[in-house]
Amino acid sequence: MALIDLLLLGQGQDLQSERGVSCTGSLPDTSDPQLVERAINARKVLGNRAMVLGHHYQRDEVIDFADIRGDSFKLAQAAASNSSAEYIIFCGVHFMAESADILTTDFQKVILPDLAAGCSMADMASASQVNQCWSQLTKLNIAQRTIPITYMNSSAAIKSFTGKNGGAICTSSNAERAMKWAFEKGEKILFLPDQHLGRNTAVLKLGLSLSDCVVWNPWKPNGGLSDQEIEKAKVILWRGHCSVHGRFSIENVDQVRNTLSGVKVLVHPECKHEVVAAADVVGSTEMIIKTVEQSAPGSKWAIGTELNLVQRLANENPDKEIVFLDKTVCYCSTMNRIDLPHLVWALESLAAGNLVNQIKVEAETAKFAKVALDRMLALP
Ligand code: SF4
Repeated sequence: MALIDLLLLGQGQDLQSERGVSCTGSLPDTSDPQLVERAINARKVLGNRAMVLGHHYQRDEVIDFADIRGDSFKLAQAAASNSSAEYIIFCGVHFMAESADILTTDFQKVILPDLAAGCSMADMASASQVNQCWSQLTKLNIAQRTIPITYMNSSAAIKSFTGKNGGAICTSSNAERAMKWAFEKGEKILFLPDQHLGRNTAVLKLGLSLSDCVVWNPWKPNGGLSDQEIEKAKVILWRGHCSVHGRFSIENVDQVRNTLSGVKVLVHPECKHEVVAAADVVGSTEMIIKTVEQSAPGSKWAIGTELNLVQRLANENPDKEIVFLDKTVCYCSTMNRIDLPHLVWALESLAAGNLVNQIKVEAETAKFAKVALDRMLALP
């Protein structure tokens, strides 16, 4: 692992411990044979007072209890459109639960069954680092001409920074529209925190060149860039990445094409630029699912995304041949923290009248984060 990855991992662990212990009280034992029955019973007691949202990357044992399955955008929309459930039990990661809290009413409480379920990418851009970067861009008279575009996979604090500074949130399915919108308002984009989604969209969708993009390294003075490089760039990419998608390589693509005749490579735009450029189809999590489901029987797919989802797609589409793009890439470890014992613990605690693991975004932060989220929802 490169030194920068270790530093970023360390930063993620600090943020994780700041979020507090994963849950209070005692968790059911993983070997308890009654776990499924306990979850069903607690779910029945809660009835319509609770809604369980499950991200596609969750384990099968958890996703089985989801009222709605989706990617981060679809789940945020689901949370926003339900104003009756008192408890939104979010089986996903911390930034998703924050977005759900921002988009729901004050009466609703968002619960994350394990508080340590963070996202290493979101943790790669802290509020103080982003503010430092913006101050530097302001000194250079560049911030005034720059629009921040922030990927949904970011903390509420970074979404709030974006809202305050005239920018918008984007997802992997509307990043192109968000960047086009930003170029109508300003000359440059500061893209946070996923450099790969920013670069892939700028080059493959907007037709910019790789040299139009520079990478801001928050660990170096001036982002590790000269003033001239920043002035010349059209897109300033934050040095962040997904520790799962960032591991797929061009060698994986070559290898699967050499070993599986007729295979099509289907990847998420959080993968590196060379992987995305070599793939047959690139799309968001929802688009990956649709592409496989709508493909002809006998189709062969090598998929570069999180392993729980790829395994589920293989199980649910037995008439197609589905392989994982790289056998050495594993599950998203933070998504995987939410297991059946944590879900049972959260459901039983709520059913017993104990509010646990609530995710609450501070009012001022939520106000400007919502401005940025609303700008995304209003994108043409
Ligand atoms: S898959 Fe990547 S972006 Fe998604 S939660 Fe895990 S680390 Fe974060």
